[in-house]
Formats: sequence, C-alpha cells, structure tokens
Amino acid sequence: LFARECLFFAGATSVEILPPITRPEIAFAGRSNVGKSSLVNAMTGRKTLARVSHTPGRTQQLNFFDLGGHLNIVDMPGYGYAAVSKTKIAEWGVLIESYLRGRTSLQRVYLLVDARHGFKEVDHAQMTAFDRAAASYQVVLTKGDAVKAADRAARVAETEAALAKHPAAYPQVILTSSETGAGIPEMRESVARLLAE
Ligand code: GDP
Repeated sequence: LFARECLFFAGATSVEILPPITRPEIAFAGRSNVGKSSLVNAMTGRKTLARVSHTPGRTQQLNFFDLGGHLNIVDMPGYGYAAVSKTKIAEWGVLIESYLRGRTSLQRVYLLVDARHGFKEVDHAQMTAFDRAAASYQVVLTKGDAVKAADRAARVAETEAALAKHPAAYPQVILTSSETGAGIPEMRESVARLLAE
C-alpha cells in the first residue's frame, strides 16, 4: 500500500468544493510543527506532503492526496498560525465540522501530538469537535526520540488515560519518531487494518 505514488489532487477551502467520495480516506490533524509532514512522508517514503502542505495558501485548506488509487490521505492543517484572524479560525472550524460530519469515506483521523508537550488547548478543541461529529480518531505522539527512552511508556499511558473521557477516541496511542522510524510500521498496520475492515 505505502510503496505507491502519493499525489496531491485537490485542495478544499469550503465544503462545496470537497472532492467526491471515491475511496476510503484517512486524515491527519495536529498543530503546525507537530511533525505531520515528516510522519506522513516517513509512512509513504515520499516528500509530497511537505512540499504541498507548506506551500502558502495551502496551509489553510484541506489537502487531498491519492495513495496509489487505493486511499485518500487528507492533511488537515492546524490552527497554529500566528497571522490567522478569529474570523478565519471560525471559518476553518465550520469547514472541518462539515467535512467530518458528511464524509462517509473517512475511516479515521490521526491526531498528532508532540510527545514532549502533550495535549495543548487546541488539541482539546479538536478532540471535542471530533467527539461531537462522532468522527473516529486516534492520537499519535510524534517526536518520540526527543523523550527519554525511560519516559516513553509512561507518556503513552498518561495520554491513553486522558482519552477515557472522549467517546470517539480510539483507546490505543501510538508513539512515533520520523527520525528513528519508531512506530512507523505500527502506523502502516493501523491504516492497513482500517482498509481490511
Ligand atoms: P508539520 O508542520 O507538522 O508538517 O511539521 P514538520 O514535519 O515540518 O516538522 C516540524 C519540525 O519538527 C521540523 O523541524 C522537523 O525536523 C521536526 N521533526 C519532525 N519529526 C520529528 C521527529 O520525529 N523527531 C524530531 N526530533 N524532530 C522532528
């Protein structure tokens, strides 16, 4: 699955222009700089996501990638942009919510959280939005190499414990590192299992 081309094919700034539902879909969310591009690129062995997602203008839309005609990968850019106005944030929230509610092909959202910092305010806001939309999501800790090896298991356990009050959250957390490749096979397996269901 992951040895295929991963091509950008659509960017949506409003729900009216979402691409039609043709394939199963997974989405990646998280604050900017969380390591989203690095993780997706490590999973797919490509640099596509970094190039496209860091292009000005494309940082505030849902970016759709086609993985070998089998799966859509959707990049949901985060709120962490300094220059974003309150109006823009509100518009973005409306788009995300209508996307989550209407997208029957969406199998799972992977919510990326920096393993060093844990949940931030915007992550809680995202999780509340996912819970409300009944959109199944899984928390993925990024930059696991930056946490001491002895602390990693506790970090995962704490994160899992915090998910108990979130009805749409998948209970298991995956700790990853795009630097060392830790957790990348688990991410691929997770996606492959979704497609096999
Ligand atoms: P994005 O904005 O979420 O797409 O984040 P990027 O993938 O561009 O990464 C943001 C920064 O974090 C870059 O400086 C990366 O080099 C760094 N980074 C990404 N993944 C890792 C990781 O697994 N470990 C460490 N230590 N740094 C990482």
